[in-house]
Parts: sequence; C-alpha cells; structure tokens
Amino acid sequence: MLTDEQLMRYNRQILLNDFDIAGQERLQQSRVLVVGLGGLGCPAALYLAAAGVGELVLVDGDAVELSNLQRQIAHSEVDIGANKARSAAASIAALNPQVKLEILEQQLIESAMPALISRVDLVLDATDNYPVRFALNRACIAAGVPLVSAAAVRSEGQLAVFDPARGGPCYRCLYAEGEEQTALSCSESGVLAPLVGVIGSLQAMEALKVLSGYGEPLLGKLLVLDLRSMEFRQLVLSARADCPACSHLQC
Ligand SMILES: [Zn+2]
Repeated sequence: MLTDEQLMRYNRQILLNDFDIAGQERLQQSRVLVVGLGGLGCPAALYLAAAGVGELVLVDGDAVELSNLQRQIAHSEVDIGANKARSAAASIAALNPQVKLEILEQQLIESAMPALISRVDLVLDATDNYPVRFALNRACIAAGVPLVSAAAVRSEGQLAVFDPARGGPCYRCLYAEGEEQTALSCSESGVLAPLVGVIGSLQAMEALKVLSGYGEPLLGKLLVLDLRSMEFRQLVLSARADCPACSHLQC
C-alpha cells in the first residue's frame, strides 16, 4: 500500500496507464543489487532510488578520486577519499530517504555472490572489471535472477538484459572469457562525461521495466550506441548451444 506522500511523490509514474499504482507497488517491493558506483552505477542508482525501488544494495571497494568527478555524479568534491558505495548512498538518501540502503564497502568476490544475489530481484552490472562481470553472470544464472549489463568507453556504449532462466542468451554467450585483455577501459581510452549518464540511465530504465512489468525489456537484444554520430543499433542475440554458463538451461 502506498501512502498519500508516496502517491504524490511518484505521481508522474502512476499517471502512466500501463504502469499505474500496481507498477509502483511492485517497484516498492523490489530489491536491486548495484555492483559498482562509478560512471554507470551513479546515475543508475540515483534513478532507481528516485523512481521508488524499495531497497538498493550498493557494492564498491574503491575510493572516490578527483578524476572520477567528471562523470560519477553521485560523488562530490568533499567525498574524495571516501568509499564510493558510502558516498553514493549519502546522495541517494538525500534524494529519496524512503529507499532502504545496504552498503558493502568491498570488491565483490565470487564466493560472496550466491548469498547476496539470492535475496535480490535484479542485479545491475555497472563494473569495469571483466572477471567480476563473468562471475556475476554465473551467479545470476544459478539464482535465476535477471542481470542488466552495460558498458561505456570513449563515446560508445552497450546495454543488454540477460535472463536465460526465462529464455535467451547470457552475458557469456556474447563474450569469450579471457578476451578481457583486449577490452578497452575508461582509464586508458577516455570517456566523454554524458555517455555514462545516458547508458546508466538506460540501465535503470531496463531494471524498472523488468521489476514493474512495464514495456518490453531489452531481452535477447544488444543495444549498441555511439554518441559521436548519435547512432543507435539493436542487434538480436541468440543463446550459444555450447555456452559454458547457460547451455544447461537450453532445451
Ligand atoms: Zn550463455
């Protein structure tokens, strides 16, 4: 049940016919794990909180640095040196104090994932760490929890929703493990500030769709965009029959 204050706060969402009070209540009952409070995780977590997701679990082991402030908008100059999960939590609490927050000031290791993921409804992969990405994919498959995955570097980004328990590919169907050595990183290749805002916001949008049942999530598709030319493309993905992570779910 939403209070009068909540009906007012979330009024612009509740006005959407196919979202309505039922969609808002589903968000309120949802718990989301946000892995990484950097360029993608900052806008994604802020929007999830503003939109009224009931609980966020924020995980990051890094401290805020001066070079982060160009794009990681949940952190401020006074947060330099502070843990990123804690710093982001303060911004989120200021924006929407009704959201329950759990802060884990650590690098997420694979052995800790099953317990953590079993008590959330969705995982948002906002890390730039490839071993963590593959491990999150495995843990989400094992728990049957949807994964909203995104990446951004230079002026380019990618976004996809994976939920192989309900059909379609997983993250590992797309990328071979070990290819991460050739992957680009923001610290080496650079990134233009609003790119991570765009992709992180799209990540939040997909999470809200999966949680509330609104619209059509980007399942089985990869959105590839380049803001330099403003080119957005959708590629249809299929599950790989020999995928080491999800082939056991395919019939
Ligand atoms: Zn797979």
